[in-house]
Amino acid sequence: MRKDIAGPLAGATLSNSTTTMDYSPVALMPDVKVIKIGGQSLLDRGRAAMFPVLDELVSVKDKYKLLLCCGGGTRARHIYSIASELEMPTGVLAALGGYVPRQNARMVQMLLAKHGGVFMLHDDFEKLPLYFAMGCIPIMTGMPPFGYWEKPAESGRIPQHRTDAGVFLTAEVLGCKRAIFIKDEDGLFEDDPKKNPKAKLIPRISAKELLKRDLPDLIIERIVIEYLARSRFCTELQIVNGLKRGNITKALEGEDVGTIIHRD
Ligand code: ADP
Ligand code: MG
Repeated sequence: MRKDIAGPLAGATLSNSTTTMDYSPVALMPDVKVIKIGGQSLLDRGRAAMFPVLDELVSVKDKYKLLLCCGGGTRARHIYSIASELEMPTGVLAALGGYVPRQNARMVQMLLAKHGGVFMLHDDFEKLPLYFAMGCIPIMTGMPPFGYWEKPAESGRIPQHRTDAGVFLTAEVLGCKRAIFIKDEDGLFEDDPKKNPKAKLIPRISAKELLKRDLPDLIIERIVIEYLARSRFCTELQIVNGLKRGNITKALEGEDVGTIIHRD
């Protein structure tokens, strides 16, 4: 005889469509501001871009609970190309590329050390309340911890879940309504403004509409837009230009600067 423990999922395969349990999750830390610092867009520009961004973040650090997540950038792209040439699978690329945003997070921590910057690994996630209670600024990689277990992409071998995805997933699990992405353009345009200077800014768009428009290129990982449609908490992605002073403060105040990509 098979032994079950009585409960709504007793004996369930968890794979059939009829097993349902009500899902109304608790927002764990909805007041945290989950912020991405772009890798290619900001960190790779060095001090000219980064020092003012960090200054602005420090100037508001006592007002908000800031969780900073770093992107990878050019060095991640370099290892992706070398590993691809050596025919490494997606999971290996994700594992290798994952070291770069961690290096960036370590540097940002050093720069913010005197303001309470603390580097954290994913295993320290439960310590977030402690860091905030101590007035710290936790800093971690934006990369989600899938590594070798990165899900296969529809085509090609570049990991689809990179640091934008990690930032969105962080905001979602913490129960934060908005995730903020600091990059080097004024927001989402109809096309990459670096290649097409005539492209127009899109200040606000829904995930559904954006997927339907199938733009030639995006300022944020495409998969995040797909996930946004099924999010419970993180229903808005805000993309702001960190090269223009004041934008970060406005975004933290809840102002709709840049682009808002929303769920519905
Ligand atoms: P991050 O540094 O956060 O990883 P990326 O470099 O991956 O950021 O993406 C940001 C870049 O995306 C911008 O610098 C811009 O040149 C490019 N981009 C591509 N398509 C678009 C678009 N439709 N609108 C705005 N920027 C775009
Ligand atoms: Mg990117």
